[in-house]
Amino acid sequence: MLEISAPIYVGDVVEMRKPHPCGGKQWQVVRVGADIGLVCQTCQRRVLLPRRDFVRGVKKFTRRGEGASDG
Ligand SMILES: [Zn+2]
Repeated sequence: MLEISAPIYVGDVVEMRKPHPCGGKQWQVVRVGADIGLVCQTCQRRVLLPRRDFVRGVKKFTRRGEGASDG
């Protein structure tokens, strides 16, 4: 499991443990706050997840957004 404090940035693309009903597993972060806004990369549907549920559901970060400094 990721740290609950793992920074989350708009533009991050994540893979969730549980696929969307459309079959998509990749989600792009479009909003960061008390809730995390995600857009399914397969069907473009938008959902809001409480941050805690998001952190629990993330399997891995596929791509980091602009906020990430990677050295
Ligand atoms: Zn979908």
